[in-house]
Amino acid sequence: MIAIFLGAPGSGKGTQAKRLMQSHGFPQLSTGDMLRASIQQGTKLGIEAKTFMDKGSLVPDHVVIGMIAERIQNPDCSKGFILDGFPRTVPQADALKKMLLDRKLNISAAVLFDIDESVLLDRMTGRRVCKNCGEMFHITFSPPPNGKCSKCGSSEIIQRDDDKAEVIKKRMEVYRQQTFPVAAFYEKDGFLKKIDASRAPEKVFGDLKIALSIS
Ligand code: AMP
Repeated sequence: MIAIFLGAPGSGKGTQAKRLMQSHGFPQLSTGDMLRASIQQGTKLGIEAKTFMDKGSLVPDHVVIGMIAERIQNPDCSKGFILDGFPRTVPQADALKKMLLDRKLNISAAVLFDIDESVLLDRMTGRRVCKNCGEMFHITFSPPPNGKCSKCGSSEIIQRDDDKAEVIKKRMEVYRQQTFPVAAFYEKDGFLKKIDASRAPEKVFGDLKIALSIS
């Protein structure tokens, strides 16, 4: 199964991708996570990417296309994978189409996590992350127990620089202008499935399984 998750920042696609990875074993390929790992490791790519990410802009296409082209060759992708946050531009979608065609692979579905922007702002400004392991929390909906990470125990629970209000606004604008047209790209190819991402995570997961025709 090759699933593409599309949606505005904060629409819950990362949470659902993790859930699907845990329940069905498909790896979650998140370009955002890969870029943050490069930043933490202090690589040249990470240093360059950070300048774009801190402003809420997209990292250049060739950087993320190269990362995904390499990642899908990993043996853990042989039975399928979930693309979380890629493609985010029409040129990325074109590059992916070619990549999959070359390997005789087919997309199962492109799922659009549909949600109102006003809900997103609330969700994102409350989002927190463990500095050590990347586990996600929310100050209202899922606070870290006793201020500590429930996965690794670290007490360094921080707000991502790009989850701050001014940067979020810019990320939304980038989504509207550059990423939303990707949905039309997949609609034209007959792969687009829309789900209501404003519902409770359990319900969204149920709708996601229906969209992907899995049980
Ligand atoms: P995310 O964690 O998916 O919200 O991504 C965080 C940031 O990483 C984005 O705001 C972009 O700056 C960058 N990024 C992640 N995925 C991509 C992509 N496919 N193309 C360009 N930039 C990306």
